[in-house]
Amino acid sequence: MTSETVTEIYELLHEAFGSQHWWPGETPFEVITGAILTQNTSWMNVEKAIANLKSAGRLSAEVIHRMELSELAELIRPAGYYNIKAARLKNFLDWLFDNYGGELANLEPIPTSRLREELLAIKGIGRETADSILLYALGRPIFVVDAYTARIAVRHGLIEPQADYEQLRELFESNLAQDTQLFNEYHALLVRTGKEFCRPKARCPGCPLEKLPHTLENECL
Ligand code: SF4
Repeated sequence: MTSETVTEIYELLHEAFGSQHWWPGETPFEVITGAILTQNTSWMNVEKAIANLKSAGRLSAEVIHRMELSELAELIRPAGYYNIKAARLKNFLDWLFDNYGGELANLEPIPTSRLREELLAIKGIGRETADSILLYALGRPIFVVDAYTARIAVRHGLIEPQADYEQLRELFESNLAQDTQLFNEYHALLVRTGKEFCRPKARCPGCPLEKLPHTLENECL
């Protein structure tokens, strides 16, 4: 039943919205930079920060690894919390250069579970960021969870409201084929649904999931 619902949600959302073409970024390193910068800010601000790095000719792992922290912070200022985020990006690159010669290609033979553990051990890299890097930059079949995922899953009775990140990830991973492209698209579709319909005050009428059983049937606008 849960498995069927998880699949049906995907099918309804994909039918309604089509492919979302995530994650925006020309290279895996740009995707990683975006994943680190997007914490607690809008994507529009991240785009400005990435545009600054690009126009300064600085959007490369090697260049940012060598760059002064203060210069990096200034370039990514539009993303907000720029000192903290500059340090996080540097922490990621210290890990990459100390352990893998600064080459993302050298991560390819590393099993996903070990890679995830290593990413989570980097200061400032939380679960959502680590999993976004794994899925969208490195092409690993890891389901990314965020507040939208939790809200929709709870409202559709797939999981208890107190479920934590790992339980939500397990819910989707264990009820879907281990398919990177499917996980990529599914997460993007949940984000779109959360932004347009499943807001703190749900807008069920017109939502692609309206016909599925949910806990808000008598409360929606
Ligand atoms: S807005 Fe309503 S129908 Fe849409 S996902 Fe949220 S609870 Fe479900």
